[in-house]
Amino acid sequence: MMICYNCNTRLEPGTLSEEHIFPQAIGGRLTSLTLLCKKCNEHYGATIDANLAKSFEFFVAMLMLDRERSEKIPVIKNLVTDSGEKYSLRDGRFPESVEPPVTVAEGGKSYHISARNEKEFETIIRQFKDRFPEIDLEDVRSKAVRSKSYMDKALHGSLTLGGEQGLRAVAKIALNFYLHSGGDRTAVGEILPVIKGEISNEQHAHLYYIIDSLELSGKEVFHFVQVNGDPTTGLLYAYVVLFSSIGYMVTLSENYRSEKFEKSFAYDVVTLTKLEKKVITNYEGRLSYVSMVNDANMARELNSKIINSIQSHLNRIMAVAEHLQYTKGVQDYAQAAITKVLQNLNGKDVSVKDFSQQVMDIFMKDAAPFFEHFLKKRKYIQRNDATEEIPSNLD
Ligand SMILES: [Zn+2]
Repeated sequence: MMICYNCNTRLEPGTLSEEHIFPQAIGGRLTSLTLLCKKCNEHYGATIDANLAKSFEFFVAMLMLDRERSEKIPVIKNLVTDSGEKYSLRDGRFPESVEPPVTVAEGGKSYHISARNEKEFETIIRQFKDRFPEIDLEDVRSKAVRSKSYMDKALHGSLTLGGEQGLRAVAKIALNFYLHSGGDRTAVGEILPVIKGEISNEQHAHLYYIIDSLELSGKEVFHFVQVNGDPTTGLLYAYVVLFSSIGYMVTLSENYRSEKFEKSFAYDVVTLTKLEKKVITNYEGRLSYVSMVNDANMARELNSKIINSIQSHLNRIMAVAEHLQYTKGVQDYAQAAITKVLQNLNGKDVSVKDFSQQVMDIFMKDAAPFFEHFLKKRKYIQRNDATEEIPSNLD
């Protein structure tokens, strides 16, 4: 009979639950029914997992991750341009100004509406109709200028990656994976109080850099976990990497007495495929980490290594995201062109050749500004050796 590792409740119909090894909100798909009871699963889901997911919303949005739920891609808020204009980012691709869309012209005699879509436009002009009944709505509708434009300014936001709750969630990922791969249940005693928040996590779970032996090929974006246990050193630890960008070390135990253990798991969150990955680490555990951060020089060296690692891997992810968004944009325009041609035909017969020609004509016309925008953006990236829309402040 399995029990919940957090509260020892017997796991049976009614109490058992599907625990995601990596939280579902960041694209995790691997699950287990033998780890946590329903109550503990829900508790952690609403607290530490939700906190971790919040930190990674930006990745989820930019990569347009499908999270196996009806939930929409998170809207990224609090983004600003260099000149201080505020924006939100919808579906990871569409920047929306947060300023009110109605401005009063000088002298207060006329109003300028720049609605972000037809629905918003309708809502606003109906409000005007209530205040000024003499307005001719049809006239306003027919005179409105509809246009599509592309953002040509960089947006800046901030990321929080090493917060207290987030680190506890990472410790839970490590423990989940260790137990899920047949780890020794008696070895959970040291990390559990950290996950529960009963003792400080900073020595047990902390940020780390991306180790060279973790190979990143092509456009892979994956979550990774590897647990190593060695009874001769007494050390059981996990190396966790999220979005192939942010690394963490978790010391699960410093009194490990079971057999030698080494297991790893990698999962591409975009292509939804399992990958074969393994790293060689020479991590010496919590105590060596503590002595390292107590030495000012070593701490500085480790910190700059972590920050450099995050920056270069964020650049890589942004390049992957840009490619995904480009592909998605092309698909959207192609789909829209087909729909338009079918509507124009209205059931009439047409040869395949004519149909394709009509689709192509509409596609080239409608998608031209989109292509122009991407070509510009690509030049910008090459010139600056850094990508647009990259969060530059790492808290
Ligand atoms: Zn429980």
